[in-house]
Amino acid sequence: MLQQTQVKTVIPYFKKFTKKFKTLNSLSKSNQREILKMWEGLGYYRRARNLLACSIELVNNYNLKLPKTLKELKKLPGVGNYTANALLGLVYNKPTLAVDGNVKRVFSRYLNKSENKINFDKLIEKNKKKLFNTNRNAEFLEAFMEFGALVCKPKDPNCHTCCLNKTCKYFKSNNKIKSFRKKMMKNKDYDIFCYINKNRQIALTKNSQISFLKDFNLPKIKEAKNFSKKQSWKFLKNYKNSISNLKLNINLYYKFSNKIPSMYKWYSLRENNEEFIPSFTKKIFRQVSTLF
Ligand code: SF4
Repeated sequence: MLQQTQVKTVIPYFKKFTKKFKTLNSLSKSNQREILKMWEGLGYYRRARNLLACSIELVNNYNLKLPKTLKELKKLPGVGNYTANALLGLVYNKPTLAVDGNVKRVFSRYLNKSENKINFDKLIEKNKKKLFNTNRNAEFLEAFMEFGALVCKPKDPNCHTCCLNKTCKYFKSNNKIKSFRKKMMKNKDYDIFCYINKNRQIALTKNSQISFLKDFNLPKIKEAKNFSKKQSWKFLKNYKNSISNLKLNINLYYKFSNKIPSMYKWYSLRENNEEFIPSFTKKIFRQVSTLF
């Protein structure tokens, strides 16, 4: 849940989730619809799907035990290098680091060398003895990430009080590397077409091919092209929405209709649907509701 998401946002979701699913076994008996409904609003829904798939895999093929090697861990759905290392360290106290943005920044500053010039796996392997001079590897892994977040921060690191400043090349150098990276955003224009009816319902489909929300409930959505014909659709409004590294410029259109294409289903605009509705679509609900 914490990948790309702030702790304060995650807390209520985490509490609800762990109250409902107390064991891996109970999670594995759930289904995508239920899990996504609980995840509603948290975004990055692939995490929820992977978590469910991972629990099923652990129940069916691993006798409910988390594998103990990097290679085996990385076979699990949604588990890449970062998560596998975090699990090895945190669960099994193995001497390893989960190399996230914070950890990369600490190493990069300490060596005063750009991140793209460092092979982090090799660097950690080479310095294993010095780095893991402790029995508390799990806490060391956690502390390393926190150190990057709280001391060697992206902006204005606390160098003067830092316990590494005597040997840190960044601190000593007159030619310090730049390490503050701005998230690169991509601009995209979309036209969204909403079928609505007098019962305050909107037609949604899971057949949309929009990559960042594939297989989710959406109205008709198309990449905007200049001069494309909107025919019987009425313009409602233009608004912005950001998803991950995408900055979306949206033109919203609507039409009252009782007939909808076969792959669409009616949903209430009052947001009390049983089924999972992503935040992106809920925002559309709010815009369209102003018509009533
Ligand atoms: S001295 Fe400054 S740059 Fe070096 S590790 Fe500490 S906080 Fe980071």
